Amino acid sequence: MAKYVIACIDNNIEVLDSLYNKISRIVDSDYIVESYISTEQALIGCYNYIIAGNEILITILGNDNSKMNCDKFIIELYKNSPNTRNILFDDIVTIDSLSKIINNASVYQIIPRKFDTVDFELIILEAIKQNAQDRRLRDYQRVLESAVEKRTRELNDINVKLELLATTDALTGVNNRRSFYESSSPMVNYARRENKKLAVLMIDIDKFKMINDVFGHAAGDEVIRQMAQKARETLRKSDIFGRLGGEEFAAVLPNTSERGALKAAENIRSEIENLEIETLKDEIIRFTVSIGVTMLHYDDPSLEIVLHRADLALYDAKRQGRNKVCLSKDDLNEDN
Ligand code: GH3
Ligand code: MG
Ligand code: MG
Repeated sequence: MAKYVIACIDNNIEVLDSLYNKISRIVDSDYIVESYISTEQALIGCYNYIIAGNEILITILGNDNSKMNCDKFIIELYKNSPNTRNILFDDIVTIDSLSKIINNASVYQIIPRKFDTVDFELIILEAIKQNAQDRRLRDYQRVLESAVEKRTRELNDINVKLELLATTDALTGVNNRRSFYESSSPMVNYARRENKKLAVLMIDIDKFKMINDVFGHAAGDEVIRQMAQKARETLRKSDIFGRLGGEEFAAVLPNTSERGALKAAENIRSEIENLEIETLKDEIIRFTVSIGVTMLHYDDPSLEIVLHRADLALYDAKRQGRNKVCLSKDDLNEDN
């Protein structure tokens, strides 16, 4: 267990003996009372104690013949032991050394050379008591800091979850309508500004009402979930995909030509066509999707207009018998 060191420094053995006797009477075995005849020796001794995991509680500095002044000793010790309480005999301090110590370290008390005339034991006991209070405060602070840190971590986790809840569709885990718009708008603005090609797909499950009616709402939910997953897998990572509501989805494909967009839509259509979903009653559901495709035009005022054009193309696909990909009529005339 770590011990508390009280270091007495004086070149007079009698003084050291007297200090030792007085202090030993008031401390128990948790404390080590050390005597040093010079500050140089004391600094080495104190550092050895610190390295071994002990704490320098108090230094009492008297006369000293070494080259190291008391201010140098205290300032040096302070670097590794800032909580040490330094008690100095009045005949060793000068204004100069005192100002150096106060500016760079700390002084606890200055006591008269004839320390028999003061209640020396009481001064030491008070220093020990204050050190213990400081220690308790530091421990308390540490506990408090780690509790605050833990709470902050928890709050961050909750915020991440809330953010996820606010941006993802609960059934499918893909972007919800709001987050689809939030993610797509800057992409559309960028493409328009930089004159980059960008395509939009509107995807709707065919005859979905019938799937619900025949297989039940839970099976319908599963169809929506798997349709979203398959489409997300088929698209590029850089594409934005979201559920706009019900069985209707949309995708924004940046840096994509008309040919590329039609191919991407066709991939989704054929992947879904080949998908088989097994219900809890071991029935197999097969279903199809219709997809409307449009390109961003340089004069499109907003994302809504582009989505609306994709929606009209989607209804063309429905009219043409479903399970189809249709390009917007407005794109047929464009030079994409
Ligand atoms: P169409 O081929 O013309 O698209 O026909 P449809 O039956 O898919 O179209 P319609 O829009 O008439 O029907 C969509 C149905 O989707 C209506 C609604 O009951 C159902 N629906 C909407 N949201 C959900 C959902 O979250 N889960 C389930 N199971 N059904 C949903
Ligand atoms: Mg539908
Ligand atoms: Mg629909």
